[in-house]
Amino acid sequence: MAVYEGKWRCERCASVNRGRDLNCLSCGIKRSEKVEFFLDDDAPTVADEMLLAQARAGADWVCPYCGTSCLAAQTQCSGCGSLRTEKNRQLVEETRGVGDWSEAALKAQQAARNAANPAAAPPPKSFLSGRLVKFLLLGLGAVGLVFVAIFAVLIYLSTLKYPVEVEVSGLEWRRTIALEEYRTVTENAWEGEVPAAARVQSSDRALHHTDKVPDGTRTVPETYTEQVADGTERYVCGRTSKKNGFFEDKYCTRTKYRTVTKTRTRTETIYRDVPVYKTRYTYLIDKWVAAGDKTTEGNDFNPRWADVAVDNVRTREAGRTETYNLLCKELGGRNKLYKTALTAANWARFQASAHLHGTMDYWGKLISIDELPDAELKEQ
Ligand SMILES: [Zn+2]
Ligand SMILES: [Zn+2]
Repeated sequence: MAVYEGKWRCERCASVNRGRDLNCLSCGIKRSEKVEFFLDDDAPTVADEMLLAQARAGADWVCPYCGTSCLAAQTQCSGCGSLRTEKNRQLVEETRGVGDWSEAALKAQQAARNAANPAAAPPPKSFLSGRLVKFLLLGLGAVGLVFVAIFAVLIYLSTLKYPVEVEVSGLEWRRTIALEEYRTVTENAWEGEVPAAARVQSSDRALHHTDKVPDGTRTVPETYTEQVADGTERYVCGRTSKKNGFFEDKYCTRTKYRTVTKTRTRTETIYRDVPVYKTRYTYLIDKWVAAGDKTTEGNDFNPRWADVAVDNVRTREAGRTETYNLLCKELGGRNKLYKTALTAANWARFQASAHLHGTMDYWGKLISIDELPDAELKEQ
């Protein structure tokens, strides 16, 4: 079973030492009883016979008198010479998942335990001194205040409004009459859908639609796969910290599976296409049909309807529509042209060159005309 050498981080100087080291190689202090061994995910396996024997000898024990970590094989403390007794504090081996021994994974596990039990967590170390935090907060506050001030000024400016004179500069009008004529047209319809007034000219049988009708069954072969137990296998299911600086793979056994392809048959319904024919009629019918529009348009203040002669027997009107746009010029800051749609009732109230009362915003845009409170103004 593969053995790996772990590492440990010195409590005093934070240097990383090898698992076999009993003292910090940088500052010399003894490895503590509370040492946390960690294992890099890509640590190589140990091949050296002496280190393997040391790894497999068992967990270290810690001298109760001087705190020196001693190898399992030692009967006497290498620090103060006292004999190992039954009461010595031998560390306890621990097994976890393969990837759960990296230093980052151990820290994450510690953080999760602290979150579950906040009382046991050590008080967090202050990263920044109180003075620096205060200074940073003051700086942030000042920047924030500047932004708030700029925002407030913009809000204030957007509420400013100025009266402005507006001159009527033109009108756009468009009037449309839709026309219809009463005449004989040729149409088609399926049986049962022919209007009563129709004069049938001809008829024939034609394909109306196709029905799908069940027409027996057939057997279709198909393949499927199945997982079949195929003996057992050993695999690395975790790693044990030997608590002497070394780690060893822990093996578990599981059932192996093999994918087997099998064949079976299933029954499928067969469908047949059945055409459905119906009678299709061609007929003549007299009806009102669209006969074009008569449109007039202009830019003056005298909108007119086109002249149409209808007798309401062969020809008739089918509706009138009219649209009007008022063009006006703002005489304040920018002399910009604006256009707004008018209702038929409203356009008659205005004449060319008439002066109206408008309101513009701080940035010189015309936002309303008093005489047309609901108008939507489009800049030209
Ligand atoms: Zn150290
Ligand atoms: Zn000792």
